[in-house]
Amino acid sequence: MKAREYAATVLRREPLSPHLVRIVLGGLEGFASSGVPDEWVGLVVPGQFQSRYYTVRSWDGAELVLDVVVHEEGLVTEWASRDCVGEAVRIQEAKGSFAMPESAAWLLLVGDLTAMPAMARILESVSASTRVWAEVPDDLTGYLPEGTDVTWLEPPGPGESALAAVVEGIDWPEGEGYFWMAGESAQMRAIRKHLMRERRLPSTAYDVMGYWRGGGRRQPRAVDPGPIWRAGKAAGRSDEEIWAAYDAEVSR
Ligand SMILES: Cc1cc2nc3c(=O)[nH]c(=O)nc-3n(C[C@H](O)[C@H](O)[C@H](O)COP(=O)(O)OP(=O)(O)OC[C@H]3O[C@@H](n4cnc5c(N)ncnc54)[C@H](O)[C@@H]3O)c2cc1C
Repeated sequence: MKAREYAATVLRREPLSPHLVRIVLGGLEGFASSGVPDEWVGLVVPGQFQSRYYTVRSWDGAELVLDVVVHEEGLVTEWASRDCVGEAVRIQEAKGSFAMPESAAWLLLVGDLTAMPAMARILESVSASTRVWAEVPDDLTGYLPEGTDVTWLEPPGPGESALAAVVEGIDWPEGEGYFWMAGESAQMRAIRKHLMRERRLPSTAYDVMGYWRGGGRRQPRAVDPGPIWRAGKAAGRSDEEIWAAYDAEVSR
């Protein structure tokens, strides 16, 4: 089914750091937030038919804020790198997947630059004790809420990520918590295996999303893991089989 679309106009373009640009959109008649703090929308820029996914950094009923990574080369990257104020874009309906159980006493957030908007918004919405690992090429002091316990990491190189190794070395807190992570897809697949095989976490204890694919390959689709998860469980599949089905859907 085709995603519902909303017409929007770029009201402002504000560089936040060398690789992150804030795009503020207006218009969006009828748009509604899903209320899920990692919610994303599809963005279709002028002259294009394909969408790219961006986290709703904020929506106040009038202005929609997206923080866009400008990397080496890409459709939205090129558009967001130049003055785009006044241009008309299309936004697709919001979806989210963060599902922290009420019983979770702590939260771990791990991500690269593309995950910063979601991590900032999640931090604004939870009160549990939270630790963050952020792999970013720029100084983003002040981007996350004040007082956030954050470990800043440098990416190994442009368009590269080493987050999987970082997560494997985390000193895991005791008791019940929630783990959320987003970034380069191959890193995310490695981490899901680690969470299932080494940490033996139940599927309700984590959400790990591939946001982009390195190595110049086609970008993953944004797929809400919830329905795939429920269908897999109903069919009696293992966690590993269900995540394999999710990966196949993302790569389709
Ligand atoms: C649910 C979800 C939420 C997301 N939220 C955000 C967000 O808030 N902000 C954000 O900036 N991105 C976010 N992303 C990631 C974003 O959709 C991708 O990075 C997208 O590919 C960027 O589009 P583009 O047109 O710039 O590059 P594309 O034309 O899609 O890709 C061109 C090439 O660039 C490379 N590439 C793509 N992304 C990156 C990157 N980040 N770093 C280095 N190389 C890259 C790929 O290898 C690709 O072959 C999100 C993705 C998902 C699925």
